[in-house]
Amino acid sequence: MSSQNDYIVFGSPSIGQEEIDEVVDSMRTGWIGTGPKVTRFEESVRAYVGAQYGVALNSCTAGMHLSLLAFGIGPGDEVITTPLSFCATANVIIHAGATPIFVDVDGATMNIDHALIERAITPKTKAIMPVHFAGRPCDMDTIMALAKKHHLLVIEDAAHAIGAEYRGKKIGSIGDATCFSFYVTKNIVTGEGGMVMTNNEEAAKKIKVYGLHGLSADAWKRYSDEGYKHYDVVFPGFKYNMMDLQAAIGIQQMKKIDQFYARRKEIWETYKKAFKDLPVGLPDETPTDQKHALHLFTLLIDEKTAGIQRDAFMQALHQRGIGSGVHFMPIHLLEYYRKRYGYARGAYPNTEYIGDRTVSIPLSAKLTDTDVDRIIYAIREIILSQ
Ligand SMILES: *Cc1c(COP(=O)(O)O)cnc(C)c1O
Repeated sequence: MSSQNDYIVFGSPSIGQEEIDEVVDSMRTGWIGTGPKVTRFEESVRAYVGAQYGVALNSCTAGMHLSLLAFGIGPGDEVITTPLSFCATANVIIHAGATPIFVDVDGATMNIDHALIERAITPKTKAIMPVHFAGRPCDMDTIMALAKKHHLLVIEDAAHAIGAEYRGKKIGSIGDATCFSFYVTKNIVTGEGGMVMTNNEEAAKKIKVYGLHGLSADAWKRYSDEGYKHYDVVFPGFKYNMMDLQAAIGIQQMKKIDQFYARRKEIWETYKKAFKDLPVGLPDETPTDQKHALHLFTLLIDEKTAGIQRDAFMQALHQRGIGSGVHFMPIHLLEYYRKRYGYARGAYPNTEYIGDRTVSIPLSAKLTDTDVDRIIYAIREIILSQ
């Protein structure tokens, strides 16, 4: 059995000396709150993605919440999304005062089934919130066309999808607003953190203001070397701003985004080869006109074919010193959603099928070849001994 210090933690980030030095630099200058590094980080992500504006916040959740508010979504409105996501995707719709309307996913892509979107649209529908599951782009041409036809906004949960591309465009440059996460397990990390990308100047300004108490623009500079400035409040906003300490990590992470992707790709291809003869489901192939951000490598463990139930499989991995995750427990089956909206099993069969069987195995740029070999050996051993 492995000791604690060689446990492979799921989603462990790759942090180098560059990130450490940049954080120390912030500490030395005293700019640890929202300051110049946040602006630099916004600019680096904005330029990378090819969006006109990027507003950094303390999470993707905050970004999705403020995107809904900035585009005027509120009580009486409906927002279409997928139940195969993190609870935050639906929670923010409720925070905005609107109602989440779920549409099942496609069983192969695990993304929202665009063929089912249209029948969920009502006169109350204001937006579609697609989730680029595991980093695979949703079918954005179809979603944007549907949105245009029905005058809906497209606000994307791209927590998994920094670096993903759809038909020559980066995710983050297509919809009305796209929200990235820099949470510790994500492809680029700041500890906690997120960013909204948009091409809408007014929305970008609102998101910035709403994210810092609704203080009038640039009030964060009120204690800067430009001298004290009085502030005004234009909206009862939130405390969602990112700190320079976080942005410092992000600035250095962004310099490594292609290097991280290359390592994820190597591991991804190694896994695909290593598991192809096992009775488990592997990720669907991505069309050649799209780039998958390779955030999650998911296996589908069906007891009937694999001989072991998913949770038991995760436990067996844990006993071998390997962490794993479930993405996701279907949102509609979580207590609040069941009670408030009356959902029960059977409502979204593809999401439930996946939610019962899916397991995400480590796929971090930090993994060494030895780690990858250990993970492969453990999974083959668990499955082949059934
Ligand atoms: C991680 C995640 C979020 C939340 O991101 P935070 O930055 O932690 O707020 C939202 N949606 C999905 C699909 C996620 O995986």
